[in-house]
Amino acid sequence: MSTIGGSCLCGEVAWEIAPPLQFMAHCHCGRCRKAHGSAFSTAVFGPAEGFRFTRGEAGVARYASTPDNPRSFCARCGSVVPSGQSWNGLIGVPAGPLDDDPGVRPIAHIFVGSKAPWYDISDGVARYDAYPPGVDAPEFPDLAREPAPATGAAGSCICGAVRYIVTGPPLRVQHCHCSRCRKARGAAHASNLFTSFDGVGFMRGTERLRSYSVPGARFYTQVFCDTCGSPMPRRDEERGITLVPMGSLDTDPGARPTRHIYVASKAPWYDITDDLPQFAEMPPTL
Ligand SMILES: [Zn+2]
Ligand SMILES: [Zn+2]
Ligand SMILES: [Zn+2]
Repeated sequence: MSTIGGSCLCGEVAWEIAPPLQFMAHCHCGRCRKAHGSAFSTAVFGPAEGFRFTRGEAGVARYASTPDNPRSFCARCGSVVPSGQSWNGLIGVPAGPLDDDPGVRPIAHIFVGSKAPWYDISDGVARYDAYPPGVDAPEFPDLAREPAPATGAAGSCICGAVRYIVTGPPLRVQHCHCSRCRKARGAAHASNLFTSFDGVGFMRGTERLRSYSVPGARFYTQVFCDTCGSPMPRRDEERGITLVPMGSLDTDPGARPTRHIYVASKAPWYDITDDLPQFAEMPPTL
């Protein structure tokens, strides 16, 4: 079997990892949810010596959300990319941006004790409140939360520089499996909340926001914190809405996901096991 390749949304950063890949796991910790802007992250692990950046390593930005595991992202497009750091001879890469089927499938949900209140795990994969027994890795307390606002849901990036409040109505909550979302978020799917155009107010940090628009794409723009890479809300003038990456929420927005979209582009290693409606591409209604 040849190497498994991955790349970011803008294509500037690319990497490969050589089989045999060992295992894949979903992480629901607060740091992963913020870094990926989604319900959970998914990483696949293989021998460290089989990993290399094939281009763009100089364009990888890093933010030390914990002492030993920098959050790494493409400085141009904000996509989650591998850190390149090994752990016990293994290296983990985000599964969402892989361009090839890694061959392995998820064996665990970890840090389920920190999972998002708006996301229910529906598959039969083993669940652990933190690391599975026997894993020798340091654990850090979940990120401290600021007091909830009197009304609306609050969100922030992983470094805390950017904070916002959702004051508009939840118009739609959905999981998107398109390849752009998988690359931009480095995850199985994006989980987004749509609210009104003026439905998000930034409390601080707008000077840290960067955006990247996919050339030729009608809607696709990624907005992220330039310091930590976390996806942040973005205003969509054409559709008259603001899109909130749900992983960045610090409080429960109340609304729950109602559908999966672009499932024709879904990752081969991810099975949808809930009973929400599925659409092959973009449904006709927002
Ligand atoms: Zn990029
Ligand atoms: Zn995590
Ligand atoms: Zn940040």
